[in-house]
Amino acid sequence: MREIDITRGIIGNHIDDFYNALESDVIIVGGGPSGLVAAGLLAEKGVNVTVLEKRLAPGGGIWGGGMGYKYVIVQEEAVHMLDHFSIPKREYEKKFYAVDSIALASGLIFGAVKRGVNIFNLVTVEDLLIREGRVTGVVINNVFVQMNQFPVDPLTLEAKAVVDATGHDHDVIATLARKNDVKLNTPTGKTLGERSMFAKSAEELVVENTKEVYPGVWVCGMSTASVYGGYRMGPIFGGMLLSGEKLAGMLLDVCSK
Ligand SMILES: Cc1cc2nc3c(=O)[nH]c(=O)nc-3n(C[C@H](O)[C@H](O)[C@H](O)COP(=O)(O)OP(=O)(O)OC[C@H]3O[C@@H](n4cnc5c(N)ncnc54)[C@H](O)[C@@H]3O)c2cc1C
Repeated sequence: MREIDITRGIIGNHIDDFYNALESDVIIVGGGPSGLVAAGLLAEKGVNVTVLEKRLAPGGGIWGGGMGYKYVIVQEEAVHMLDHFSIPKREYEKKFYAVDSIALASGLIFGAVKRGVNIFNLVTVEDLLIREGRVTGVVINNVFVQMNQFPVDPLTLEAKAVVDATGHDHDVIATLARKNDVKLNTPTGKTLGERSMFAKSAEELVVENTKEVYPGVWVCGMSTASVYGGYRMGPIFGGMLLSGEKLAGMLLDVCSK
């Protein structure tokens, strides 16, 4: 056994995957529940999907359940998505299901990967490519470069559609609005900011506001609240799953054109 044979296997396979991501159909920034659901559903239809996640583990805000208690809640309307990704659930009250957060996070991650989604962790999106009034790709860097503020230039990836699935941060749209004189597809043309907790309305709005917010860039999950002035909802996750499902339907149309 030579150690460099192990190294060769890692470098070669990573470069193959990275090369494949250079021109994706869809780039999803953020590996939380909404992004992972959308990625998995698109990939099973043959769409070339890349997910970029800045943390070590994808899964976003799922892992911690509610205040560290390891269950999250999914309402009946979204249970078909749990079943689709083979994630176990327990009906603890009529129309409400308790889901082990570790099963949900790992199930969505593996569900995406086994359908062919290319997930890169430790990669942060720090800027966008914009050509003729349309977002055409992302500017990426290794997260350690960003954390240490090293003067290392980034690389770029292109896609037909870019998705902001970065949660509360709404990092992609925040960057788009901060660095460019653009009018967003919101009532004011700008981001509206997230409001305090109101679970029922939040769950409805997160699905309603899953949409194209600027040509070439869509928003899903919790970042819809920051962009469109929705509410936070706490550890109920049905809206996230349904937001991902709605997004996949919208992007399937875009990718088939
Ligand atoms: C660390 C964390 C803490 C949270 N705490 C709370 C809380 O206290 N209360 C509450 O109501 N909700 C909280 N949430 C959100 C809550 O869990 C949401 O209901 C749900 O997880 C949102 O799902 P999402 O699909 O929008 O993406 P999220 O689960 O929010 O995941 C977004 C992912 O995007 C990644 N990301 C962000 N910016 C970039 C970038 N530039 N490049 C690459 N990746 C990026 C993040 O690392 C994260 O994994 C938290 C989420 C996270 C990630």
